[in-house]
Amino acid sequence: MERDGWYSEEWAGQGSAISLRIKEKLHDEQSPYQRIEIYETETFGTLMTLDGLVMVTDRDNFVYHEMMSHPALFTHEKPERVLIIGGGDCGTLREVLKHEEVRHVDQVELDERVTRVAERYFPELCAANADPRAHLHFQDGIKWVKDAPAGSYDVIIVDSTDPVGPAAGLFGQAFYADCLRALARDGIVVGQSESPLFHAGLIKSMHEALRGANFLDVATLYFPQCTYPSGWWSATMARRDTTLAGFREEAVAERDFATRYYNDGIHRAALASPEFLFQSLL
Ligand code: SAM
Repeated sequence: MERDGWYSEEWAGQGSAISLRIKEKLHDEQSPYQRIEIYETETFGTLMTLDGLVMVTDRDNFVYHEMMSHPALFTHEKPERVLIIGGGDCGTLREVLKHEEVRHVDQVELDERVTRVAERYFPELCAANADPRAHLHFQDGIKWVKDAPAGSYDVIIVDSTDPVGPAAGLFGQAFYADCLRALARDGIVVGQSESPLFHAGLIKSMHEALRGANFLDVATLYFPQCTYPSGWWSATMARRDTTLAGFREEAVAERDFATRYYNDGIHRAALASPEFLFQSLL
């Protein structure tokens, strides 16, 4: 919501909100799926909102996009085939393509308008879209996974909106069972899992649904994300056939690309569960 020079997002049911002072509104359209707005802010650069909710800002998107991609990709021994569901702003795609092991990425985003608007207003996030390894598709990710041949992918990244509307099915056991089948041996699925402070129940239900879908190991990564509800965010990983313990530490140390948040220490620290969650996830 825009008022008196501020964009504000009320955090549903939490009696709290975030506000960013804006310079001007740059874009506003109703796609077949959601309202897409772009603002120029005073201190966070360009802001994209979907249905009035913060999706991405120039200033802080790096934390989220790095944590949605590098922990899973450095945990897998050889992540060659990757599927991104959602991810329409293309920031996660850019991080995935930094990994030289990656040979093929399918990005399945429901709403093509999100990507086309991101290409105009977030060109740096879309800088890797022309990479020959990148294949952009615009359709429902739930159906894509259901139809995918068994063993198609090494890593599946679910960079979706909140678990409502078309994204709701991306957080349930039926979808995770389809992911398990679409993953090759030792494959990993990682999905954004909302705020540990506001949505601990969702994280718990994701753990239960993933284990119910026969994933062997499940772990949640915790990280700051100041423009998302509560400013504290998470991503939940699950792995078939083997554990999530350990990662390619040497590869992280020797990586030939820069990150601004992720490193080996962050990888280890992000897996440490806060006590209130540790107890509830037992
Ligand atoms: N970083 C954001 C967050 O954590 O809320 C997510 C960014 S990305 C823009 C979210 C995308 O998920 C949206 O573009 C939306 O269209 C897409 N999406 C929602 N449900 C989907 C589905 N079932 N299949 C594919 N994409 C979906």
